[in-house]
Amino acid sequence: MMEQFIEIKAANPDCLLFYRMGDFYELFFEDAEEASRALGITLTKRGKHLGADIPMCGVPVHAADDYLQKLIALGYRVAVCEQTEDPAEAKKRGAKSVVKRDVIRLVTPGTLTEETLLEAGRSNYLAAVTRIRAGTDDPHGVFGLAWIDISTGVFRVGETTFERLSADLSRIDPRELIVSDALFEDESLAGFWRQLSFAVMPVPRAYFDGATAADRIARFYGVATIDAFGGFSRAETAAAAGAIAYVEKTQLGERPPLDPPTRQDSGRLMHVDGATRANLELLKTLSGGRAGSLIDAIDRTVTGAGARLLAERLSAPLADPDEIRKRLASVGFFLGDTGLRSRLREALAGAPDISRALSRLSLNRGGPRDLDAIRAGLDAARDIAAFLGEADASSAAEVTNAKAALAALPDPLRDELTNALAEELPVFRRDGGFIAGGYRADLDELRALRDQSRRIIAELQARYQDETGIRSLKVRHNNVLGYFVEVTANHADKLTTGATAATFIHRQTMANAMRFTTTELADLEAKISSASDRALAIEQEVFDDLCARITAEAEAIKDAARALAVLDVSASHAVLAEAEDYTQPRVDDGLAFDISGGRHPVVEQALRKRCEDPFVANDASLGPADGEGDGRIWLVTGPNMAGKSTFLRQNALIAVLAQIGAYVPAKHAHIGVVDRLFSRVGAADDLARGRSTFMVEMVETAAILNQAGPRSLVILDEIGRGTATFDGLSIAWAAIEHLHEVNRSRSLFATHYHELTALSETLARLHNATVRVKEWEGDVVFLHEIVSGAADHSYGIQVARLAGLPEAVITRARQVLAQLEEHERKSPVEMMIDDLPLFSALRDKPAPAAGAPTARNPALTLLADSNPDDLTPREALELLYKLKAEA
Ligand code: ADP
Repeated sequence: MMEQFIEIKAANPDCLLFYRMGDFYELFFEDAEEASRALGITLTKRGKHLGADIPMCGVPVHAADDYLQKLIALGYRVAVCEQTEDPAEAKKRGAKSVVKRDVIRLVTPGTLTEETLLEAGRSNYLAAVTRIRAGTDDPHGVFGLAWIDISTGVFRVGETTFERLSADLSRIDPRELIVSDALFEDESLAGFWRQLSFAVMPVPRAYFDGATAADRIARFYGVATIDAFGGFSRAETAAAAGAIAYVEKTQLGERPPLDPPTRQDSGRLMHVDGATRANLELLKTLSGGRAGSLIDAIDRTVTGAGARLLAERLSAPLADPDEIRKRLASVGFFLGDTGLRSRLREALAGAPDISRALSRLSLNRGGPRDLDAIRAGLDAARDIAAFLGEADASSAAEVTNAKAALAALPDPLRDELTNALAEELPVFRRDGGFIAGGYRADLDELRALRDQSRRIIAELQARYQDETGIRSLKVRHNNVLGYFVEVTANHADKLTTGATAATFIHRQTMANAMRFTTTELADLEAKISSASDRALAIEQEVFDDLCARITAEAEAIKDAARALAVLDVSASHAVLAEAEDYTQPRVDDGLAFDISGGRHPVVEQALRKRCEDPFVANDASLGPADGEGDGRIWLVTGPNMAGKSTFLRQNALIAVLAQIGAYVPAKHAHIGVVDRLFSRVGAADDLARGRSTFMVEMVETAAILNQAGPRSLVILDEIGRGTATFDGLSIAWAAIEHLHEVNRSRSLFATHYHELTALSETLARLHNATVRVKEWEGDVVFLHEIVSGAADHSYGIQVARLAGLPEAVITRARQVLAQLEEHERKSPVEMMIDDLPLFSALRDKPAPAAGAPTARNPALTLLADSNPDDLTPREALELLYKLKAEA
């Protein structure tokens, strides 16, 4: 057996091997040591190998899912090795023959299907990345991306560049990423793979082989060519083939019901990079939890599939006004009809997760409850189609499409499942008992025989009691003896002697009892067990048959599942809009950004929950003044705790909500689609990645200044505060000038450097805004109201007092402040505005193409390269002429 184990283990070196032995999966050697540590289970020994004890641990098969879940969460991969023949077969070959075993599946984070291993509201993506260098100008090459959720069949591909790869991966947020070993070991990318937050798995280069990629995909789908799926680039085809190769490897020949790959054109999406996503806490908060994130505040879906679709939409907001308006129309449809909406949600809430059940059935991993899930899903779909059919949804294309998908479901399949399945269903198909009476005559007959025999046994027990005069005589059953007669030890004599001795054949002596069999009982036993076996065989046959009928309709079922998810999300937005008083945003191709009465969706709800004063709504207007020219920058100053960050973020969140096609927390909102959204907070700690906080801040700010354009929305919060005051001020100053002159993006910039407000004198599209505060008896009261103008005080000391700093410290701080302010009056800052038009040279230059670094002005280079101490007066004059020529 150890030989067999070692052989199988050698073929799966990167997995823990779950080796099936009876009712346990056993692990040996290092696997056992790792697993016992990871799972907190006892490590024991079994036999010897090369003279040393073999470490071993095991988990019971019935509880294996729990242990698998833990191991997968810890980043392990598990090879599940099953017995592939009946132990009786092995015995026939010889007493020492080992039962045949084989790995039937590799369990990896990206290829899960079990209900218990999956999160209901989250997609479970396996992503594949490949790079193609030949034939591209980009020195980094182009990157092909493919991502698959085998638990639902979603399969997408796309092409991207090195610059965008990180943002694309954070949008997809896979559980596992595969890359070829060559790419994994490529020096220029080593740092990149390491900083990703999910498992990265190197696989053989052949998975991505370009020459065979199209064939591999075609073979998987059983089609002659993949042309029918739409044209894919070489990089996309190779990535898709790589993903399929990995699915085939981990599922060992079982074919999950994957949709044909479709291209996700990231050009039609709002580009949101990883830092912005994290910062805006779209799907999780900075500390990693869901509570407090945007999705947590807006999710009113009632199904797992709906929650997954909402999360997917939130990670990929659209940039196409027509598509956005389509989604908004279906929210409007459900907002208009509350009765229909409640009926829909009630029906949805009762419907199971059909796409995941379908996937398990297709992979031969399903149980009777999955069959029932499909039945219940089809039932719900029919109900929903019926009452949607009565409503006029012509204004909402999404609803009309959903209706059509639901109506296309096959009625005969639903009827068949309804008739076939019993009321109470076991978890495992091997247990039988899931087919309803009346569905198959032969099954009914066998069951009757079995039940009848049981009655006969009861009669037999009564007769034996009469014949022997032992009232306590029992006919019982266990797995070793089958049926037997049992009497207590003090009655045993009556059966072993006298007239009845011929009938009762002794089988076993227990401490207090004796067990016997009889020929009658043995005959009955045989009848019953053969009836049960045959009944079970019929049930298995019916199961396979139903499974085949379901998978034959997989396309229609998946379409319907998707339709239900879309309806759930639309209705969820309508419920949210009504409960939270959200409004339909106007989204178009312009550059407007006009929000009146905007609120922060998360803070607003949090304040209400804590019974605090209601959220103060605020306006923002970042579009071009009078609709002409470029967008504006709002420079928001005000004391700490006044509400600057909240205001900045709420506008970014409103843009995200509008572009996923949801209603928004505002009175009115008019947004010209945002193509890229950037949000940065000064000096966020990123110790995990080992960069200094200030470095992170600057790297991220650089990315914005290099990439943002007029269609972008930029949110910068306290940039520059991670360094000394004058450094920070200068950086913030220069960044604003660059945003204004070069990027020309619609921007919000919060700062506590009041000096920056003077910039509005030179930058035409800069608007000063501040948060109103009131001083009251030496304390500061935050009004959270954004108004035009600049803050006059920073109120730092008052805020410190609110925070409970000792009175003596506060008094001393006031003295120090007074002195500092005395000096400040003589500071050069005020003069800088007139004398130092730092970036005027950059003005009127077109915005850089995305990703292209901004060129430095040659005059500045000249200046930097010169050393005034070394210049003769004549050389100095020449330099001045050169500078003049370059300026
Ligand atoms: P800042 O960025 O100016 O330091 P924050 O935006 O972090 O301030 O806001 C501080 C706190 O003030 C928030 O946690 C929130 O409770 C409250 N707050 C902010 N904006 C508002 C608002 N518009 N209405 C009500 N409370 C608000």
